[in-house]
Amino acid sequence: MKKHNFYAGPSILPDYTIKNTAEALINFYGTGLSLMEVSHRDKEFIEVNDEAQRLFKELLNIPEGYHVLFLGGGASLQFAMIPFNLLNKKAAYLNTGVWASKALKEAKGFGEVVEVASSKDANYNYIPTNFAIPADADYLHITTNNTIYGTEIHTDMTVDIPLVADMSSDIFSRPIDVSKYAMIYGGAQKNLAPAGLTFVIVREDILGKVDRYIPTMLDYRTHIKEGSMFNTPPVVPIFAALQTLKWLENNGGIEAMYQKNLEKAAVLYHEIDTNPIFKGTVANEKDRSLMNICWVMAEGYEQYEKEFLTFATERGMIGIKGHRSVGGFRASTYNALPKESVEALVAVMQEFKALKL
Ligand SMILES: *Cc1c(COP(=O)(O)O)cnc(C)c1O
Repeated sequence: MKKHNFYAGPSILPDYTIKNTAEALINFYGTGLSLMEVSHRDKEFIEVNDEAQRLFKELLNIPEGYHVLFLGGGASLQFAMIPFNLLNKKAAYLNTGVWASKALKEAKGFGEVVEVASSKDANYNYIPTNFAIPADADYLHITTNNTIYGTEIHTDMTVDIPLVADMSSDIFSRPIDVSKYAMIYGGAQKNLAPAGLTFVIVREDILGKVDRYIPTMLDYRTHIKEGSMFNTPPVVPIFAALQTLKWLENNGGIEAMYQKNLEKAAVLYHEIDTNPIFKGTVANEKDRSLMNICWVMAEGYEQYEKEFLTFATERGMIGIKGHRSVGGFRASTYNALPKESVEALVAVMQEFKALKL
């Protein structure tokens, strides 16, 4: 039976990425050595690293003045590294979910933190709007896609202070205007590569403005200076990321991906909205994520939640259990997920409806 991979992260990657990485793990570029056992300072790997950075910049149209870094530690380490490097007196945070609030919590260790708005009271089922941003804050931190709740900020915000965005789960899913951001970062394990790689896009002019001592390894300037080779970088995930970037390039780039993602999301949201035994969890249609689509059983059908999960899993739908803080179901529809997988899920939802109505 074909498996349809809807995991939220780590999650589905293109076959192209998996096959090429598997091959390199046996024989890296014809060297007769495994990718796992070659020096990161070898010519072959330096080419991989350089090419991945180059493609990363090209695909996202990253302007001059920005650097792309490949680091370890996950998005979670960035929650601390960002205030360490950028927060002098005050920072502003938009609280749209658990990840956003974890980022906010870390910043509190470095200075005053203003929560500009929060949707916590409604279990983060919408994106707050019309909030005031303190003009004297060093930066505003946002989470563009809230992986757990299925909400997303679809437009690049225009703000007067540096904008820092966690794009762990929607990087490369839609066109973005990088020039609107001072920094963009994320764990690669949602839409790019296996776990172990963190990407950071940083505008150089925001660095070097805090007074405190920054440990060498936690200072973005170290990694800029050393081209992400200050210490041993996550070699295998970087190689895999390069494969995904090539796959993106060969498949029409981000604009083509975005069109495909819009189509996939439309198919699944349509089913959620029209199938009477299910309902969506996000309050406003405009906040619905293209990458993580959440729904629950409709009133009167709550008792079938577990049964549907088993029913769907038996039919090859993998990883659709919702996060425990939301319940219900979540289908992650990252770039590598084919439209056929969404159609297969919709067919299963219809089959279940026919049993219960
Ligand atoms: C998964 C996720 C994280 C956590 O990433 P790690 O790499 O595991 O630290 C942070 N933010 C968002 C939006 C996520 O989806």
